[in-house]
Amino acid sequence: MKTINDFNFDNKKALIRVDFNVPLDNDLMVTDTNRIEAAKPTILKVLEDGGSAVLMSHLGRPKGQKNADLSLKHICSKVSEIIGVEVKFVNDCVGSEAETAVAAMHPGEVLLLENLRFHKEETNGDRDFAKQLAVLGDIYVNDAFGTAHRAHASTTIVAEFFPDKRCFGSLLSKEIDAIEKVMRTGEKPVLAILGGAKVSSKITIIENILDKVDHLIIGGGMTYTFVKAKGGNIGDSICEDDKMPLALEILKQATERNVQVHLPVDVLAANDFSNEADTQVVDVDKIPDGWQGLDAGPRTIENFRNVITQSKTILWNGPIGVFEMDSFNKGTIAIGDAIDEATQDGAFSLVGGGDSVAAVKQFGFQNKVSYVSTGGGAMLESLEGKTLPGIAAIMA
Ligand code: AMP
Repeated sequence: MKTINDFNFDNKKALIRVDFNVPLDNDLMVTDTNRIEAAKPTILKVLEDGGSAVLMSHLGRPKGQKNADLSLKHICSKVSEIIGVEVKFVNDCVGSEAETAVAAMHPGEVLLLENLRFHKEETNGDRDFAKQLAVLGDIYVNDAFGTAHRAHASTTIVAEFFPDKRCFGSLLSKEIDAIEKVMRTGEKPVLAILGGAKVSSKITIIENILDKVDHLIIGGGMTYTFVKAKGGNIGDSICEDDKMPLALEILKQATERNVQVHLPVDVLAANDFSNEADTQVVDVDKIPDGWQGLDAGPRTIENFRNVITQSKTILWNGPIGVFEMDSFNKGTIAIGDAIDEATQDGAFSLVGGGDSVAAVKQFGFQNKVSYVSTGGGAMLESLEGKTLPGIAAIMA
């Protein structure tokens, strides 16, 4: 696996695929700079070596059309501020204008190309378009984990034009290392905590990780499909009836593979899906009709805490209650606290995939876990055991 540390960028132009798909407010100002900050180490390494950096990214979903609101020029000053170098901007990502701007670059300079997705060829993975991008750099660096699961021109196809001169940026290599630690090299006991709304969206992950973990905590809305399948009363809780046979099959496979599955034993049930609903703590398999489980109960939280604090490698994907409502966020907060404790005791903890990061940030856990993934869909696909095209293209 080649990373930027395997190259010296002295006098070289690095063509870097970054993920600057950042949120903008109504005044087109950047409201969350995490992704720009995450790309900084890679850009600085290139500049410190004596090279220059040509940055390419998408922003939003312009679907192959120019769209003034989705121009990357809106983020140029923010990128300059964060990197500490004035970033120049060019109005297109391919063609003569881009080529002239790149030709005029000197070592130490940074150029941001216009939104890749103003060309439909980007998402189509068009080879000619990728070739046009390829002339803009001497070495190709992919540092965009958030789009590594897409076989787009700038994330995957372009790599073939740099047979010996392509590598992962430092962010992407960190993501790959974190996944490796959880899936292959992590110290035992290895624990996966899976929450979120539905079994159906997590099923491939569960199947893939059963071979890799010692403990599996199942929480959140997924719980009730398992509990009902086992014959429990779940009242009006969220449930996917058609997935009940699958839930039983997962439990059977877990037993066969010596994986200990921890399901909630009690829940905080509510008489309405609302922050103001009446609540009561009940056994997970005795939820009265008219009530639904919206958070973990106190005995469950204690059980989960014990498993978490005894684990050495922890993966967390998905909240274990309806964390968006104050009345039902206690379970998710308690999980975060227990992971914090385990991490302080030397465990490696990775949070990522889908909406998990939103929960982590809302409660300020991002600095308390070992690693928070920057890619929602890309992390989910990695956990499902898929080889991401953007990663495969560099490795090829
Ligand atoms: P996911 O995107 O699959 O990780 O699901 C995240 C969503 O699951 C969050 O919006 C939570 O509010 C929701 N969720 C967690 N627990 C429950 C529950 N017991 N009932 C309904 N939704 C839940």
